[in-house]
Amino acid sequence: MGQTLTEKILDDHLVEGELTPGEEIGIEIDQVLTQDTTGTLVWLQFEALGLEEVQTELAAQYCDHQTYQFDFKNTDDHRFLRSAAGTFGAHFSRPGNGICHNVHKENFAAPGKTMLGSDSHTPTPGGLGELAIGSGGLDVAVAMGGGAYYIEMPEVVNVRLEGELPDWATAKDVILELLRRLSVKGGVGKVLEYTGPGVETLTVPERTTITNMGTELGATSSIFPTDDQTKDYLERLGREDVFEDIGPDEDAEYADEIVVDLSDLEPLIAEPSMPDNVVPVSEVEGVDVEQVMIGSCTNGAYEDILPAAKMLEGRNIDKKTEMIVAPGSKQASEMLAREGWTAEMMAAGVNFSEATCGACIGIGHVPASDSVSLRTFNRNFEGRSGIEDDNVYLCSPEVATAAAIKGEIVDPRDLADELGDLEAPGLEMPDQYIGNSESDLIAPDNAVDDELIKGPNIGDVPLKDPLETEVGGEALLKMEDNITTDHIIPATQDILMYRSNVPKLSEFTLSRVDDTFAERALDADGGVLVAGENYGQGSSREHAALCPMYLGIETVLAQSFARIHKANLFNFGIVPLTIDEETYEKIEEGDDIEIVDDAAEAVKSGQTEFTIRVNDDWEATGQLDASEREREILAAGGKLSHTKQQHDEG
Ligand code: SF4
Repeated sequence: MGQTLTEKILDDHLVEGELTPGEEIGIEIDQVLTQDTTGTLVWLQFEALGLEEVQTELAAQYCDHQTYQFDFKNTDDHRFLRSAAGTFGAHFSRPGNGICHNVHKENFAAPGKTMLGSDSHTPTPGGLGELAIGSGGLDVAVAMGGGAYYIEMPEVVNVRLEGELPDWATAKDVILELLRRLSVKGGVGKVLEYTGPGVETLTVPERTTITNMGTELGATSSIFPTDDQTKDYLERLGREDVFEDIGPDEDAEYADEIVVDLSDLEPLIAEPSMPDNVVPVSEVEGVDVEQVMIGSCTNGAYEDILPAAKMLEGRNIDKKTEMIVAPGSKQASEMLAREGWTAEMMAAGVNFSEATCGACIGIGHVPASDSVSLRTFNRNFEGRSGIEDDNVYLCSPEVATAAAIKGEIVDPRDLADELGDLEAPGLEMPDQYIGNSESDLIAPDNAVDDELIKGPNIGDVPLKDPLETEVGGEALLKMEDNITTDHIIPATQDILMYRSNVPKLSEFTLSRVDDTFAERALDADGGVLVAGENYGQGSSREHAALCPMYLGIETVLAQSFARIHKANLFNFGIVPLTIDEETYEKIEEGDDIEIVDDAAEAVKSGQTEFTIRVNDDWEATGQLDASEREREILAAGGKLSHTKQQHDEG
């Protein structure tokens, strides 16, 4: 039987297990990526493991989430990251040089390679045929030290593209259409592999918009085969030497098939406050728009901003609407500036930001209260923009720009009819991309530092004791479905600046759900969290497991868990138990929860069903779905303790 592209790459990198969906496999990692909010912990963990040098083919540390240096904390972190990259042998991308996924795509992504990144949108280079997976930072630290990455073998789903995009429909509409059909849970446990005649009609920048936002479907990864488009893109980058002709076998068998006819697509938009609230733009026309933002790792590339610039040429944006462009990389900024497009957009009323994640996580350009913001980003979770009552819509740069011109949501096809001289800009790549300067992207052999520099904001990594026999406590919080890692640890500027200071950061744990939680957890010396479906969706942020661990949380009872967050719970020694709907409905906040079994023994012995006794009154069952390796990690008190034990023994 033929293999899918995903299976071929995994096969080439397999060090343990078999490629059977649901089975745990260990794979060798070629490249790793970390960013600043997760990277400080990655390097502290790398150091705590006693590792001395990066062992993967390539490692890159980016500074993109917290680039504004409001006070010493972020700047200290940036300096620490630069020193860690220099000391251990990673590339270092300076604050302002761009968003990790954009800079990585432009400089390092390569067909056929595996990549692990401590950021949930790591799958972006799947558009170039790289199999890239987001994970917690500790997994990245271990992979950088030469350890295998363990994951449940995902199902591989064929997304067959047919036809060709019509004018005004874009790659963003392809992924919004998939979100509309499949929802934010539709890709869980799956790799989405794109095939079919529609593939060759999409350029690599369009493909990476799709693979980037596969994360919003919950997918483990998304990947395209390589072809002349890939070769062409790499040639324009001056990196054609990494091209490899790869794709699935003709008789490859997929777990499922989804067909998208590109020619049927129209401009779409995700309404507040979930990326899968997708409707045709024509259905929400007329809504007043106060802010338009173009940028992020999804649509912040040169090829995303150029259409906006072309639409704005010789026009003005509406006077009640602000429009901000935040390029995904300095390279994009520089090219637009050199070609005169920056001036053209500024003349139309646009403001420019530095190349950063910034507003995507509520840092800067926070919308006015109860106003509408149209963004080309990938997420619009409630409150993510920095204000609780936000109304963030997600759309393509074309739809966003049309709204900036009109001052309200408008289907760009209708605006074109109204204006008479507005043409669909289409997608254009530069003949030759310009490279990063060697001071913006510093190679290991050009490193600034050769020892770690730790300012006062850099704390120690807390370690957990081995799992105890008795696990349980008060149900400190009962939460709804789809609790995101943003709910667990908000990523706003005032909070994330403590990312390397776990005791301080823990004070904000779940504060968006209940601002008394952290204090109650500390007073109670731990307890239990209860949640509905898809607990921990969103980012790869391991602080979302580390901070509850620090507060003493021993177990989370949820109807289901998001993949990366569940792995993070194992990594930090918190027992994730799945409960059914009836149990979820019956448990109330404040209930006394006791895991009846000897937890340490039961976890080690492979027991899957755990008896949960509530208020010494009634009982229910919790399922532990964990591999042997995950059980060992849980029993040891988390992956750091477990890996340390192994190092000490061996
Ligand atoms: Fe940055 Fe937003 Fe992309 Fe995350 S989703 S990497 S915060 S731009």
